[in-house]
Amino acid sequence: MALMTGTQYIESLRRLNTRVYMFGEKIDNWVDHPIIRPSINCVAVTYDLANDPQYEDLMTATSNLTGKKINRFAHIHQSTEDLKKKVKMQRLCGQKTASCFQRCVGMDAFNAEYSTTFEIDKKYGTDYHERFKKFLEFVQENDLVVDGAMTDPKGNRSLAPHAQEDPDLFLRIKERRADGIVVRGAKCHQTGSINSHWHIIMPTQAMREEDKNYAVSFACPSDAEGLYMIYGRQACDTRKLEEGADVDLGNKQYGGQEALVVFDDVFIPNEYVFMAGEYDFAGMLVERFAGFHRQSYGGCKVGVGDVVIGAAALAAEYNGADKASHIKDKLIEMTHLNETLYACGIACSTEGHATESGSYIIDLLLANVCKQNVTRFPYEIVRLAEDIAGGLMVTMPSEKDFKSDLVVGKNGETIGDVCNKYFAANAGKCSTEDRLRILRFLENICLGASAVGYRTESMHGAGSPQAQRIMIQRQGNIEGKKQLAKHIAGIHK
Ligand code: SF4
Ligand code: FE
Repeated sequence: MALMTGTQYIESLRRLNTRVYMFGEKIDNWVDHPIIRPSINCVAVTYDLANDPQYEDLMTATSNLTGKKINRFAHIHQSTEDLKKKVKMQRLCGQKTASCFQRCVGMDAFNAEYSTTFEIDKKYGTDYHERFKKFLEFVQENDLVVDGAMTDPKGNRSLAPHAQEDPDLFLRIKERRADGIVVRGAKCHQTGSINSHWHIIMPTQAMREEDKNYAVSFACPSDAEGLYMIYGRQACDTRKLEEGADVDLGNKQYGGQEALVVFDDVFIPNEYVFMAGEYDFAGMLVERFAGFHRQSYGGCKVGVGDVVIGAAALAAEYNGADKASHIKDKLIEMTHLNETLYACGIACSTEGHATESGSYIIDLLLANVCKQNVTRFPYEIVRLAEDIAGGLMVTMPSEKDFKSDLVVGKNGETIGDVCNKYFAANAGKCSTEDRLRILRFLENICLGASAVGYRTESMHGAGSPQAQRIMIQRQGNIEGKKQLAKHIAGIHK
């Protein structure tokens, strides 16, 4: 089974025994849960697009391990062309879902692991790279979703992992056995964890010798014994529980997903362990994973941005304001910001290079600049979208009011009649319901459930702004720039 369809993917989730909790309760049928299902539909898009001949070039690739056609989300980049196609694929998926489609964390983990395990083996004579390749072949062959999980709870930020009062606040090796390791701890706000067949765990930061047991990386099934997840709630999430909810959801079909993933003494057999104490490589793995994921944001957020710009343009049209010059200018500004993000995603890909393992990696400085811009521009894009949409996007009555036939007027008008009368705008261009739909979509993306995927995730996903600034400082070569200035200014010491 080289390529699954979206439907086959959803069915494959039913075969897992993943332990999920939400609102203080165990959720047994999480696949059909109305709060969770949109996030599953969103991942399913990564399968359906790969089966669509018009997107074959972007969505699929040839495996360097087997020579077979695979979903690009399971591919190891073999060239700068592959790196660019990755970004274009993510923009496409963002355009089709207006959401976080979750599968990139696994793809970015594969690529970080592939090159890092190669270099660990070179130094220590371990066989992590072969183990990893075997695991990846299994993933490609079965077209699986794998969650790349990096972020530890971290406890007191001023203390190293080993110095925390509670030793579990960074995920660690609790016990070493001849046939594997037992791990304990948790990973926070993990994108798509419930929707993933497997997880790849990576350390969250560079480590020192005292933190050796925290320098651990491995793969494990999402339904492994001792593993469970607590679902992260989102703004307006309970709207999804309302009977017949549609317009008020803004994006009925798709959404993102984040959860706390807990490892309550989970046994990991040796064949799935890719780092176990080589603390001097923890930083490399983190830097590469973060670099790939910062590149990713130059694709996915741009695709979502395309939909936001389209929605703002429609809202203006539906309000009858689309001819106003300030509206046109705001749409230009949004487009400029969005394409600048894309330019960064493409640039860090084009400037990529081969790693020692032969796989390709992005230019780290440009990838960090890309993500740094993502911590700002979507906020401005959303601000302009809200400006164009008008206050109605947050003051409108509910869908139920618009559909209500309760008589309230002296001439027999229902609540629905009244709402439809007073919220009608450019009737030649749209029905009141269409106007409602586009405003609810903007509410959802700016303030509602999807805001996690477009706004706050733009700030903190793939690392908070300061994490990129540290990398920009490290990679920015200020010394080299000083030499340039000295040379031109005629300073010779
Ligand atoms: Fe992919 Fe973007 Fe979601 Fe990260 S935030 S998993 S890059 S869609
Ligand atoms: Fe993310």
